[in-house]
Amino acid sequence: MTYDLVVVGGGPAGVAGALTAALAGLRVALVDSGIRLGGQYFRHAARPERAPGLDRFLRQARVLDARADVLLRHQVWAVSREPDGDLLVHCATRDASAPGERAVVLRARRLLIATGAHDRPLPFPGWDLPGVLTAGGAQALLKGGGVVAGRRIVVSGTGPFLLPVATGLAGAGARVLGVYEANGGLGLARHPVLALGKSGEAAGYAAALARHRVPYRTRQAVVAAHGEHEVEAVTVARLDPDWNVTGTHVVECDALAVGYGFVPQIELGTQLGCETRHDVDGSPVLSVDATLRTSVPGVWAAGEPVGVGGWRLAELEGRLAGRAIVADARQARGADARPAPGADDRTAPAGVRRVPGAGGVPVGGSAAAVVPPLFARRRERWRAFGEALQRAYPVKPGWQGWLRDDTLVCRCEEVPLARVREAQALGATDARAVKLLARPGMGWCQGRVCGYAVSCLAGERPQPPRRPIAQPVTLGALASLTTPADDDTSDTPPDDPSAH
Ligand SMILES: Cc1cc2nc3c(=O)[nH]c(=O)nc-3n(C[C@H](O)[C@H](O)[C@H](O)COP(=O)(O)OP(=O)(O)OC[C@H]3O[C@@H](n4cnc5c(N)ncnc54)[C@H](O)[C@@H]3O)c2cc1C
Repeated sequence: MTYDLVVVGGGPAGVAGALTAALAGLRVALVDSGIRLGGQYFRHAARPERAPGLDRFLRQARVLDARADVLLRHQVWAVSREPDGDLLVHCATRDASAPGERAVVLRARRLLIATGAHDRPLPFPGWDLPGVLTAGGAQALLKGGGVVAGRRIVVSGTGPFLLPVATGLAGAGARVLGVYEANGGLGLARHPVLALGKSGEAAGYAAALARHRVPYRTRQAVVAAHGEHEVEAVTVARLDPDWNVTGTHVVECDALAVGYGFVPQIELGTQLGCETRHDVDGSPVLSVDATLRTSVPGVWAAGEPVGVGGWRLAELEGRLAGRAIVADARQARGADARPAPGADDRTAPAGVRRVPGAGGVPVGGSAAAVVPPLFARRRERWRAFGEALQRAYPVKPGWQGWLRDDTLVCRCEEVPLARVREAQALGATDARAVKLLARPGMGWCQGRVCGYAVSCLAGERPQPPRRPIAQPVTLGALASLTTPADDDTSDTPPDDPSAH
C-alpha cells in the first residue's frame, strides 16, 4: 500500500509530526531503528527519574501506536524516488524468527525526515582506549539499559549536555570525578533572556552536582587518556580561550565521557537532493521554509536535521510539519475532500489534546495559515535559543594542538594524524581529497565519528554528506530485496535444471 506519509525518526519531532497527520486521517507509518519510541531525549524506561515532558510524550506515543503503523528496529538506509513521484523508503530489519537482516520497502507520497543528531567527538591521544565513550554513549547505556559506564568517571567537552550526563551518572551511583568544560563558565548567561528561560533547569543541575560533590571546572578539558589495556587515567589541561594548553594535571579514573556538541543526521535529505545550509556552529543542516518543507517536493524535515535546538523545538517543528503535510494532502485530494471520520484532534483521547492536530488546518493554504503566528513566534524563540547555545559553546581550533603524529584521527581505518598531514603535503586541500588519499572516513562509520575533525584539520567547514547508503546495511538484506521478475521464477521447483 502507499502511505500518505512515512516519518523516519521516533523522537519528539517524528512522533509529533506522525501523530498530527494520523489524527487528521492520513495513512501514516513511522520508522525508527531503536527498540522503543523516544529518540535521544525520551529513550528512557530503565531509569526511574521523570524527564520534563516525558509523560506527555508517552501519551502521544500510545495514541500514535493505535493510529499509525509504528515500525521499530527498522533502519532506513536509503530513500529513492519512483517515476510516478512516490518515494520508496528502504529499511533493514531483524526478526527473532530468522538470522540476518531482512529488507523492507515502504511506499509513500510524502516523507518527514526527523532523524535527530549524533554525538560530535574530537580525537585526542588515547581516545581509542576501552573505557573512553562519547557523552551520548554513556547516557544511552544508562537510559537504555541502566548500565553505568564505570565506577570513577570523568566528563569532559563543551556544552550544557555535559550536565545531564554527569548528574545522571552520579545519580546512578558512579563517582563523577569532575566535569571539565572547555569553554568559559558564562555560557548562556551572556544571553540574559535565554538564560532566564533555562535558569531553573541550570539551577537543578548545579544543585545535583553539589549534592554529589562533583566539581565543575571551566576552561579545562581532557587532552589525553592513558592506560595499557583500558583507560586508567586522563590528562586534564587548563586552556586559554582558543583551547591552547597552558598547564596539565593527571586524574585517575576508569571511564571517560566526552562530547563536543552534536552533528545533525541529514543523509536521507541529501540523498534526495535537498538543499542545505550551514548552521551557526558550521554543521550542514537541511534548508526548510516556514512550514518545514525542504527544497524537494513531498519532503519535510523537523527537529535536529534542521538545526540543533533541543527537544521542545523538535516537538514543535514536528507538529508544524505535520500540519503542513495534512494541508498538502488535502490539497492533493481536492478542495472538497472531507477528512476521514474521527480525523480531528478534537476527537483525540484525553491527554493528547494539546498536540495541535489538523482540526484547523486549511486545505493547501499559505505558510501563515498552516503555521499560526503564535507557533511561528514560539519556533523563532526556540531557534534563537539553539543558535545562542551554539555560539556560547563553540569548538575552538586549539584542540588540534592536543594531537600527536601517532594519534588516530579515524579509528575505523586506523588513520593517524601523520597520514592526514602526509596527504596534505601531497596536495590535498580539502577533506574529500584527504579522505581519498589517506582513507579517514572510509570505514564502518563512514565518517560519522571522524568527519568533523577531518574537516577541521583540512581547514574547511564540514560539507553535506554524499552517501548513497545512509546507514550500514548487510548484503543479506540487499539480497532479500525481490523484484517482480525474481518472484516469477520463485515458483520454479529448485531441482528443475532449467531454473539455473
Ligand atoms: C546522543 C544525544 C543525547 C542527548 N541527550 C539529551 C538530554 O539528555 N537532554 C536533552 O535535553 N537533550 C538531549 N539531546 C538533544 C535531544 O536529542 C534533542 O533535543 C531531541 O531529542 C531532538 O529530537 P529529534 O526528534 O529531532 O531527534 P531524536 O530525539 O534524536 O530522534 C531521532 C530518531 O531517529 C532515529 N533515526 C535516525 N536515523 C535513522 C534511520 N536512518 N533509520 C531509522 N531511524 C533513524 C533515531 O533512532 C532516533 O530515535 C541529546 C542528543 C544526542 C545526539
